[in-house]
Amino acid sequence: MDHIYDLAIIGGGINGCGIARDAAGQGLSVVLCEMNDLASGTSSWSTKLIHGGLRYLEYYEFRLVREALMEREVLWRIAPHIIHPLRLVLPHHDGLRPAWLLRLGLFLYDHLGGRKLRPPTRTLDLAHDALGKPLAPGRFSRGFEYSDWAVDDARLVALNARDAADRGARILTRSRAIKAERRDGHWEVTVENQFTSARSTLRARTLVNAAGPWVENVLSQSTPGSTTAQVRLVQGSHIVVPKLYDHDRAYMFQNSDGRIIFVIPYQDDFTLIGTTDVDYDGDPAAVRITESEVSYLCASASAYLAKPVTPEQIVWTYAGVRPLYDDGASEAKAATRDYVFELDAERNLPLLSIFGGKITTFRRLPEGALERLAPYRPERSNAASDWTAISPLPGGDFDVTGLPALVQQLRRDWPFLSSTHARRLANAYGTRARDLLGQAKVLADLGLDFGATLTEAEVRFLMATEWARTAEDIIWRRSKLGLRLSAQEITALDAWMMAHRSNDSEKLALGRA
Ligand SMILES: Cc1cc2nc3c(=O)[nH]c(=O)nc-3n(C[C@H](O)[C@H](O)[C@H](O)COP(=O)(O)OP(=O)(O)OC[C@H]3O[C@@H](n4cnc5c(N)ncnc54)[C@H](O)[C@@H]3O)c2cc1C
Repeated sequence: MDHIYDLAIIGGGINGCGIARDAAGQGLSVVLCEMNDLASGTSSWSTKLIHGGLRYLEYYEFRLVREALMEREVLWRIAPHIIHPLRLVLPHHDGLRPAWLLRLGLFLYDHLGGRKLRPPTRTLDLAHDALGKPLAPGRFSRGFEYSDWAVDDARLVALNARDAADRGARILTRSRAIKAERRDGHWEVTVENQFTSARSTLRARTLVNAAGPWVENVLSQSTPGSTTAQVRLVQGSHIVVPKLYDHDRAYMFQNSDGRIIFVIPYQDDFTLIGTTDVDYDGDPAAVRITESEVSYLCASASAYLAKPVTPEQIVWTYAGVRPLYDDGASEAKAATRDYVFELDAERNLPLLSIFGGKITTFRRLPEGALERLAPYRPERSNAASDWTAISPLPGGDFDVTGLPALVQQLRRDWPFLSSTHARRLANAYGTRARDLLGQAKVLADLGLDFGATLTEAEVRFLMATEWARTAEDIIWRRSKLGLRLSAQEITALDAWMMAHRSNDSEKLALGRA
C-alpha cells in the first residue's frame, strides 16, 4: 500500500501552506494538494498589510488585534525580504470618528503588544507637513501617523510551501481533491490533476480542510451533513493606478459609511487602493470587481485627495473573497475577522476545517490547528511548537535592516545587474537571489530576456523551486511583472514555459503539445 501520511492538507493558500510548513518542521509527514496554483485563491488578493486591524477594535476583536499586532515584528524578522515597514497617515475628518476616539484606538494599537523596532503614533499638522500635500487643500489640518507592515502575500505563500517541502512535505499543485473519505483506518483523498485529468489517491491519518472560500465544498465532498459551521463569503476589490504621490507613506481614509480604504504606494511606480466589503454568493473563482466598486473606490479616494482618481487611470484591478466564519453579523464589514476551527473526529480520524484567518496570523493559525490535532497524532515532534517564530523563511536569513546591503552585495558580485533588477531580486528572493544568479558573469548568461528584467534563469528557478507552471503564476503571483510586461511578452513567456514544463503529459492534456 502507498505511504500513509500523518497529515493531508487540501488547499495551497496561506493557511494550508502555513500548516504544511509548521507540521513538516515538527516532524510530521505531510502532503498538500492545491487545485490550481499556490495562492491562486484569496491569498493573492489581499490588501497586503501585516496589520493589527485598527478598524477591528470597533468590533471588540481584542484577541485577534492583539495576536496580529504581536505578529508584525515576528514576521518581519523571519521574512525581511518580502515584509516591509509602512507608516500610515490617518487624516482626521470632522463629522466622522472624533479625534479623541482615533487617538484612543491608536493608543491601544501602540500598546496592545509587539511594536519595539518601529516608531509609535505621532500627531501630524497636515496643513504644514509635506504628508498633507497630496490631500485636498485646506480640508485636513490634523492627522495621525502610525506603524504597520506591508507584505507580498502571494510570495509569502510560495515561501511557506518551499520551506515545507525543504522539511520533507510533498506539495502537489494543479491537484484538485474531488473526494475524501474515511476508509480502513485512514483518510483517502482522491486527487485529480488539472492538466492531465489523471487521478490518484492520497492516504493520511489526519485531514485539514484549508480550502478557504471552498471550505464548504470540500466538507460536502468528505463528510456531508456533519457540520453546522458556515462560511460567509465577503468580496473585497482593489484598483491600481499610476503612482499618485512621491513619498513612501500610505493613507487610511475613513468613509461616511463607516468603512475605511487604504491608499498604498505599490511596486515603485503605482498606488494600490482598496478595499470593499460586499456579501458574495457566486463561485469564488469567478469573483470580479464590479462597476459600483470601481466608482466607490475612486470616489472614496477622491474625497480626500487634491487630484481626483478616475476609472480611466486604472491599470489593474483585482478582487477576492474573504472566507469568513459566519457569526450572523448583519453587515459584511462587521462579520468576525477572527479564525475558527471546526473539528470532526469521527472514528478517531480527524478532519479539521478552517474558517477565516488573516495573512497576518498565518503563523499563529497553524500553531492553534496543530494543537487541536495533537491528541490524534503520533508523538514525533523534533521542534518546539513555536519554532516558526524564529526560523527564517527561505531567503529571509538576514537582518531586518539588511536589504539595502543585500542589494549592494548583489550588484558587487554580479556587476551587470541594474539597480532596479538587483532590488527586485533581493525583494523577491532575499539571499536565494544568489542561487538564482549562480555563475553568471554577464547578463546574457541568464539566458533569454522576457522583458522587465525577467530572465530565463529566473523563470527556470521559479519552475524548479516554486511550482510555477504558467506565465500567470509568474507575472501575478511569484512577481507582479504583469504590471510591466506587454501582452506579446506574456504570450511569449507562456509559450516558453509550456515548451519547458517537465511533464509532457500535461502538455498533451491541454492539447498544446
Ligand atoms: C479583499 C481582501 C483584503 C484582505 N486584506 C488582508 C490584509 O491586508 N491583511 C491580512 O492579514 N489579511 C487580509 N485578507 C485576508 C486574507 O487574504 C485571507 O483571509 C487569507 O488569504 C485566506 O487564506 P486561505 O488559505 O484560507 O484561503 P485561499 O488563499 O483561498 O486558499 C484556499 C486554497 O484552496 C484551494 N482549493 C479549494 N478547493 C480545493 C480542492 N477541492 N482541492 C484542492 N485545492 C482546493 C484553492 O484553489 C485555494 O488556493 C484580505 C482578504 C481579502 C479578500
